[in-house]
Amino acid sequence: MRGLSLLFLLAFSTCLLSAQTNVVVVADAAVESNLRAAKVLQHYLEEMTGGNLVDLRPFGTIQPHTTVVFIGYDPSLSTFGFHTPPALPEDGYFLEGKNGHFLIAGGGELGAEYGVYDLLERLGCRKYSPRDAFIPKVRALRLPDLSPTTAIPAFPYRELWYEPAFDEEWARWHKLKTNPKKNAEWGLFVHTFDKLCPAEEHFAKHPEYYSWNGAQYSPGQLCLSNDTVRQIVIASLRKLIEEKPAAQYWSVSQNDNFDYCKCPRCAASDAHYGGPAGTLLAFVNAVAAEFSDKTISTLAYQYTRKAPEGIRPADNVSICLCSIECNRGLPIAEGCTDFARDVDEWSQLTHNLMIWDYVVQFRSYISPFPNWSTLQPNLQLFHEHGVRMLFEQGSGHDRSEFSDRRAYLLAKLMWDPQANADSILLDFDRGITVRHNLLSRHTLMN
Ligand SMILES: [Zn+2]
Repeated sequence: MRGLSLLFLLAFSTCLLSAQTNVVVVADAAVESNLRAAKVLQHYLEEMTGGNLVDLRPFGTIQPHTTVVFIGYDPSLSTFGFHTPPALPEDGYFLEGKNGHFLIAGGGELGAEYGVYDLLERLGCRKYSPRDAFIPKVRALRLPDLSPTTAIPAFPYRELWYEPAFDEEWARWHKLKTNPKKNAEWGLFVHTFDKLCPAEEHFAKHPEYYSWNGAQYSPGQLCLSNDTVRQIVIASLRKLIEEKPAAQYWSVSQNDNFDYCKCPRCAASDAHYGGPAGTLLAFVNAVAAEFSDKTISTLAYQYTRKAPEGIRPADNVSICLCSIECNRGLPIAEGCTDFARDVDEWSQLTHNLMIWDYVVQFRSYISPFPNWSTLQPNLQLFHEHGVRMLFEQGSGHDRSEFSDRRAYLLAKLMWDPQANADSILLDFDRGITVRHNLLSRHTLMN
């Protein structure tokens, strides 16, 4: 197999006129993620340099005097002064640049590609939005010197619900979950009780499967202390998992209303656990026990937001805690102390905490929404509490007030909530201004 893992290189010209190669990219061809990252780098370096040469040659032809980007590590790179990079988690990457050479090593399926985007930004490239990119044109490429740098995301799962993130290329550049990847990973996504135990199918014959409000049954939520309901949900979920076995995350979660069951058994359970979240969690833990190789996600939302007492999520249960009620004029720690308390209490019960955070107002997408100063402190709060998964709800597929700018800032802060937010916004504003001035002049001249 050693022969198969020979390193291959892709070569690029310095400019259209000379078609002279001045940078080569070398990737371990046996590792698909490294080869894919090399092709991404090839694409952008060709755009930068106007190059059009792509050459595949064995690694042995690379000499230390050649300017080269290595993607993936090989012991022979000690010739170039590079030592073995540290072990890297999923999405993490390692960069080092010296003497005109550059090393990118990545963790998991995407780490190397994310390292490529980092290098491209260091070379001046920007992807402001799916409509606004800046790729500088250079005649000869100089690779930057960089001391050994390891980059690991603050939140392993980063999903951004703003329009730019539905563009796969933009989302990958900003190291976010792409829409196709999300759809592949999730079998069911939030508010799933009715899918798993449909009222249309059962309510007429068995109203006791659903919510008792003290006077009558309603199909709003399930009666979570009913054993038959649990068996129906387990059977439905088993069937759905058989249809989509590769999906890891399966949401078993309340419908989007407050109509939870108050029958004597559920009410006693709620009292026992200090609130409805405990009754929900007992139910979800029992379902999750049937699917030990899957992650069962549930909502801590509205009436289940407050953490329970005397019960904790099973190892394969993920809690999606939602901040929908919070005042957006102040950071959560100042303006929504009850939610800050919930973050703290849930974080003590589980390491599988996801935050569904709302960064948009729904009344009017185009009206000014002055929550800019809250975005970074809120992400910092989540990070301090060990949150692993983030869903930042913006305006979805609709464009909204400064949605490109918001998406750009949030993407950077979701990777590193300690990044300099002012610098990120200044970079965006200058970049967009320059790009649109150039476009206007170009339009005038033509
Ligand atoms: Zn009940």
